[in-house]
Amino acid sequence: MKIDRVLISEEEIDEKLAEMGRAISRDYADKNLLLVGVLKGAFMVMADLARHIDIPVEFDFMAVSSYGGTKKSSGVVRILKDLDEEISGRHVLIVEDILDTGLTLHYLIRNLQVRQPASLALAALLIKDDVERPDLDVKYEGFHIPPEFVVGYGLDYEEKLRNLPYIGVMVADDEAEDA
Ligand code: 5GP
Repeated sequence: MKIDRVLISEEEIDEKLAEMGRAISRDYADKNLLLVGVLKGAFMVMADLARHIDIPVEFDFMAVSSYGGTKKSSGVVRILKDLDEEISGRHVLIVEDILDTGLTLHYLIRNLQVRQPASLALAALLIKDDVERPDLDVKYEGFHIPPEFVVGYGLDYEEKLRNLPYIGVMVADDEAEDA
């Protein structure tokens, strides 16, 4: 398991989160904002983005199943942990690490919309280009990246590498074996 190259450095991530944090602070200045992080991947984005938000915010988390240890999206979304709080009448911002097929978020948005929040918006640090996905309006975007499997900064490979402070691209297993 080797990192082929750094795609986005720690500094670049921090600058982008600062930008996103400023926009969120401005847009929700007079509102009561609830940040909803999607576990496990979004835990780092959530922690670092929140430090760039200078209005009062509350936090909640959901956990959903996604890749199940492989590199391919299963398309099956299962809620492993629901929100602790009711969100009806609240201004909710979902914080995601990465938008790939969009299946997880598409499901989550429909699921949360039914609970009648005052508003529901989406922030995602990474958006994979050239992937067909349902129409999702990402209000706060981080980086557009090529459709490669990335790790680090919350994103795992078989539950490891989430602690890398940067976003990296892994060497494919067969290439790693040849090396
Ligand atoms: P989607 O439903 O948009 O396909 O992606 C759902 C989840 O799959 C993401 O929240 C993330 O946890 C995982 N995922 C998608 N693309 C990648 C990737 O390139 N690397 C890793 N480690 N996880 C990914």
